[in-house]
Amino acid sequence: MTVADIILPLAVEGLLTYRIPDNSTTPLAEGLRVLVPLGKKKIVTGIIKQVRTMTNEEVEASGIEYKEIYCFLEDYPIVTPQQLRLWDWLSAYYMCSIGEVMRAALPTALKLESETQVLKNPDFIAETRMHQALEAILDLLPEGKPVSIDELARRRDVKSVATHVNTLLEMGAVTVQENVKERYTPKKKTVISLGVLPPADDTKASRLTPNQQQVLQTFLGMEKEKVEQAELLTASGCSQSVLNGLLQRGILVKTVEQVGVFAPADQPVGPAHPLTGEQEKAVAAIHQCWQKTPTVLLHGVTSSGKTEVYIHLIQEQLEQGKQVLYLVPEIALTTQLTNRLRAVFGSRLGVYHSRFSDRERVEIYKHILAADAYDVVIGVRSSLFLPFRNLGLIIVDEEHDASYKQQDPSPRYHARTTALMLASFFGAKTLLGTATPAIESYYNAQSGRYGLVEMMHRFAGLSLPSIHLLDLKKARKRKEITGHFSDPLVYHIREQLEAGKQVMLFQNHRGYNAYIECRECGYVPKCVNCDVSLTEHKAIAPNMPGRLVCHYCGYSIPTPIVCPQCGKDDLKDRGFGTERLEEEAQALFPEAKVARMDTDTTQTKHAHEKLIRRVEEHDVDILVGTQMITKGLHFKDVNLVAVMNADSVLNMPDFRAHERGYQLLEQVSGRAGRHEDIGHVIIQTADPTNPVYQFVKKHDYQAMYNSQLEQRKLFKYPPFHRLIRIALRHREASRLETAARTLCERLKLVFGSRCSDVIIPSVSRAQSMYVRELIIKIEATAPYAKAKEMIAAEIRYVSCQPNCKGISITPDVDPM
Ligand code: ADP
Ligand code: ZN
Repeated sequence: MTVADIILPLAVEGLLTYRIPDNSTTPLAEGLRVLVPLGKKKIVTGIIKQVRTMTNEEVEASGIEYKEIYCFLEDYPIVTPQQLRLWDWLSAYYMCSIGEVMRAALPTALKLESETQVLKNPDFIAETRMHQALEAILDLLPEGKPVSIDELARRRDVKSVATHVNTLLEMGAVTVQENVKERYTPKKKTVISLGVLPPADDTKASRLTPNQQQVLQTFLGMEKEKVEQAELLTASGCSQSVLNGLLQRGILVKTVEQVGVFAPADQPVGPAHPLTGEQEKAVAAIHQCWQKTPTVLLHGVTSSGKTEVYIHLIQEQLEQGKQVLYLVPEIALTTQLTNRLRAVFGSRLGVYHSRFSDRERVEIYKHILAADAYDVVIGVRSSLFLPFRNLGLIIVDEEHDASYKQQDPSPRYHARTTALMLASFFGAKTLLGTATPAIESYYNAQSGRYGLVEMMHRFAGLSLPSIHLLDLKKARKRKEITGHFSDPLVYHIREQLEAGKQVMLFQNHRGYNAYIECRECGYVPKCVNCDVSLTEHKAIAPNMPGRLVCHYCGYSIPTPIVCPQCGKDDLKDRGFGTERLEEEAQALFPEAKVARMDTDTTQTKHAHEKLIRRVEEHDVDILVGTQMITKGLHFKDVNLVAVMNADSVLNMPDFRAHERGYQLLEQVSGRAGRHEDIGHVIIQTADPTNPVYQFVKKHDYQAMYNSQLEQRKLFKYPPFHRLIRIALRHREASRLETAARTLCERLKLVFGSRCSDVIIPSVSRAQSMYVRELIIKIEATAPYAKAKEMIAAEIRYVSCQPNCKGISITPDVDPM
């Protein structure tokens, strides 16, 4: 009997074994996608990990009645051997099940199961007659309302429904919903082209109304073969009904076109910029290092032209017929970089991130699997899961960035660590690039594990920005401050605006105020589900109350007018967020165009791109933002950057606070003066003597590194020790306490003082669950895999204890 061991998208460890149907004609291979039954009624998608034969004796001895695979969803593997290897490695290294890795690695539409919600695509037009069974399923789907496969299968068998849904997905007739929030994005656009012009005689029948003439004239004036309907309507200022008149008479013709995620094949491309002397040297040095170690750290100051170096190295790989993966920490960064890379690589470049709809992600996934795959992919951490065949190089840009670490859910992987592993499977090289290396990476470079190449000068002989510290305490004492703007800051912003320049203002949190507090009784409104205070957000419309929002779970209430505890109307704002900053900036500089960039203003698919374009086109004078504006962006008219309250960055209760603070300040500074003039950075702080500000002032990474390294050694932190954080969660505090204490005691027996006492984290309750933590510090030289095995064993033991049932225990390896 032939059986397959199959990976299922579940949190349980191990693989499940199924029988291959006797009549199967699909050539068996690992990586094939199959539908299998699970339990009594469920159906799920699995990936074949291995195929083997079992003798009748073996089957009997196992005492298991193996279920049969329902069907193969493709007749070729959609997961490559390298991917499977990576999944295995991730599950072992990050202490999670391989099914959890599968969940993260594949787009939803490739993971059909009974609960998958199917939605009819309203734009779908069948090209040929459809099979009756497919039609029947489409008929069961109401417009605009998703239905689960289970429901569709009420009157049929679930097995054939699931396969048919898979076919419909491939045809584009339906989409699946990943989460309720994902809105349908049109995949078609309506374009107008010229039909037959009316005869030139002036009979009543051939005459056009003035409005129709207006539309026709506008169309002809655009001098394009095809114009998007919406664009034509806007440009002519006429309504749809006027256009319809022209369409009915055949003067204009309407067609619906497919909009793909792929760049047009005729994208014009040009040569890359020739490299400068320093960049040339860097490229040569990188090659030299690669001879000795596959990983190189490129430490280049902001605006030294690291991207140009990457482009050059990518070209070299493509000439050798290899693929390149270019990782960026955040979607916000893909916009400008994609444009730069497109100009050189055209349609050979693919882009991958979470703002794409699931359908688009499947298209990209399958395109990379195909023979004519992309040669270069730029994407966020999840693009590590794409089915590359021939990787030659992985670039990890802004390698220090914390967003490379996935926090939740499992696998809690770090993209840099994972990239190194993936590269090793292909014998590929890795280049880590940044102006502010992670302490761990710089340490690895210093100790020879990575090669190290430095570029210490900005492109075109520009200087690094000059940093000015402004003492907030003094300013407040002398009353030289309006809202959160000290007088000198106001003066300098005005100076910039008058010179026609743009200004960027950075603040650590979004929202209006950090929180509100009653001055009478000290009451602070908190979330009912989480142990955090609520953040004030202004009303969207005037005369409406603002809201207090929990940034952990989204819970919100209208902002109270009187204190809910003592009833006095003396609620006062504490702290401030980007919303407040935007409002203050607008009030101080009424003529300036102020815009805000944070997670609240960039929710929709193209919001980032639009905002970035507005700043590029100088349609924004002052850009206010959170972390999002600190990274990688390049605006030529920005000469002044201000950090409104730098202390809030440095005062985080985290051993990385100073490292992060330095990186953030240096990066945000790097946005200033990237074109002609020297940039200026104003840092407002109540604590100007803090050494981190002094390091930033001198752009002295080395000094920051040295001071931090000492601390790390002293307090047993990375790179000298590795950390594993174990989070325990439950609804009941007392049950949780027992479990945490039991696990702690057991781990101390194994690890001694390497295991911490039970920690109450700063957010001790989140989403209605109480949280406790343990941190284990393991010497960097000790066997890590062994330690993880021992931890896993203790977790298993505790999970099985009767008084610890139902407690969620999740390890986070190398937490950030
Ligand atoms: P980094 O990634 O190090 O911050 P960039 O690669 O963004 O720096 O370069 C900063 C600016 O200098 C960009 O506008 C880039 O186009 C320009 N630049 C850098 N190197 C060159 C070069 N060799 N030729 C032309 N322009 C360059
Ligand atoms: Zn909450």
